[in-house]
Amino acid sequence: MSEPVRYLNFVRFAECHGSELRERFEVVLESGIYIGGSEVDEFERAFAAFCGTTHAVGVANGTEAIELVLRAWGIGRGDEVIVPANSPVMTGLAVTHAGARLVLADVEPDTGLIRPAAVEAALTGATRAIVPVHLYGHPAEMGRLREIAADAGIRILEDAAHAHGARYGARRCGSLADAAAFSFYPTKNLGALGDAGCVTTDDPELAGQVRILRNVGLASHGTHDVKGYNSRLDPVQAAILRWKLERLDGWNERRRELARIYLAELADLREITLPAAHPWATPVWHAFPICVHDGLRDTLQRALLEDGIETNVHYRVPIHLEPCYADGGWEGGDFPVSERRASMLLSLPLDAFHTESEIARVIACVRAGLLRRSSPAATA
Ligand SMILES: *Cc1c(COP(=O)(O)O)cnc(C)c1O
Repeated sequence: MSEPVRYLNFVRFAECHGSELRERFEVVLESGIYIGGSEVDEFERAFAAFCGTTHAVGVANGTEAIELVLRAWGIGRGDEVIVPANSPVMTGLAVTHAGARLVLADVEPDTGLIRPAAVEAALTGATRAIVPVHLYGHPAEMGRLREIAADAGIRILEDAAHAHGARYGARRCGSLADAAAFSFYPTKNLGALGDAGCVTTDDPELAGQVRILRNVGLASHGTHDVKGYNSRLDPVQAAILRWKLERLDGWNERRRELARIYLAELADLREITLPAAHPWATPVWHAFPICVHDGLRDTLQRALLEDGIETNVHYRVPIHLEPCYADGGWEGGDFPVSERRASMLLSLPLDAFHTESEIARVIACVRAGLLRRSSPAATA
């Protein structure tokens, strides 16, 4: 049997680029500076320029990037923050850990993006912010969301953890609202060799406050005026990220190329629905999620695995059904689109380091897997 098709092939990446990354690592090692310093400053400058914002503040991970912005805005006890129900649980946890009440909104059936009408319906006098997620690297409907936020006098924090480099019209995700939170978890389009994250914004006051909060609340005059966090970005990760950032547009273009192959070659299959994209979006395909009909998602996932093809589900459990939110007062059926999509989603392998022949093999195995299902005689 041929080699398995990994969902993401980090080992192949290391084979291609290991020597360049080792060089970056050695520069940091020999600098003797292992917290802060010029590597972090230079990455922050480069990432802000890439996103088209005036500030980028490196932090320890994407979850804390969200939490620190909410804290810096003074959002906490008694406040409400709206998050899409189908986001990974971290988006919800950041709101909860900031002390605010997590309010969920359902999503669009075709894209899985937060539904502006559901956001409007969820607004109360206590709502302070919306956290739309640019899910799978496709920007949320920011035009409509910005109108809603402006009318309500509340802020928007982009959860851009899937969307490094994606564009809404001409502008990059990360520059579309009051602030944005990025994760550089290894599986993200821009991934570190461990945990890392970043906040981007044009607001100097917010950037300054996040800098204080990430560094245990230490103010420039030497006292700790707020109870801060240990949430700094390591220089080793910053050095790796700066090297990868220079190649990110190329890798994202490669993802778009491979996504176009899937979209063309799977278009005729009635048993699945392919991911939708809006004409105003330049997505970066953090994932390529198909929806598998007739309750056949798990069957197809197993069939693909038997053929040596790794897939993923983004995400299997909506936030309101996670056991850790059993105290949230939600129940099954509250966010029907998120729940239906969660039962159908299957992310096919797609990253910049897959070959065309691997993608062709995935396509052939998806076809064969669905065929086996629809004609039981074929399996006899
Ligand atoms: C990965 C991710 C996060 C959390 O980022 P971490 O760096 O893992 O803390 C938040 N939101 C979304 C949409 C993510 O995909």
